[in-house]
Amino acid sequence: MNILVSACLMGVCCRYDQKSVPDGLVIALRNKHQLIPVCPEQLGGLSTPRCPAEIKDGRVVTKEGKDVTANYELGAEMALKIAKDLGCRAAILKERSPSCGCGEIYDGSFSGNKIVGNGVTAKLLIQNGICVVGESKADMFL
Ligand code: SF4
Repeated sequence: MNILVSACLMGVCCRYDQKSVPDGLVIALRNKHQLIPVCPEQLGGLSTPRCPAEIKDGRVVTKEGKDVTANYELGAEMALKIAKDLGCRAAILKERSPSCGCGEIYDGSFSGNKIVGNGVTAKLLIQNGICVVGESKADMFL
C-alpha cells in the first residue's frame, strides 16, 4: 500500500535543526510498501534550519514568538493533497512534532512537557479518514 511518511523518519535532514531522525523499522517498510516522504513544515514554506515551534492555544508559535500557524496549515493541506492524489490510506508520522505528532505533543512552553493532542498535519489527515500512527507503532505495517 501507499503510506505517507514523515521525511525526517526516512533520513531526510528536514527538521528544524537540519537533522533527521532515521527510523530503521520505518525505512525497512520500503521493502513491503510504497513510502511517500513528506515534510509538512517545508511544504508550508518554512526554511531549514528554522526556529522550533510548538502549539499553544490553537496557534503554532516559534520559540522567538512568531506565529507560524499559516505555514503549518498550508503544509498540512499540501500533505493531505499528496496523500489523496497518491491514494494513501495510512500515514506514519514523527511523534510529538507540532506538525506530525499524533496523540501527544509538547505543551507550548518549550519545557519538554507533553500533553494529549495532535500536530496540525496529523489532525487534518485524521479528519480526512487517513489512519495516522507514530513511528513507535510502525510495526503494524510489517
Ligand atoms: Fe519531520 Fe514532520 Fe517535522 Fe518535517 S514537519 S521535520 S517531517 S516531524
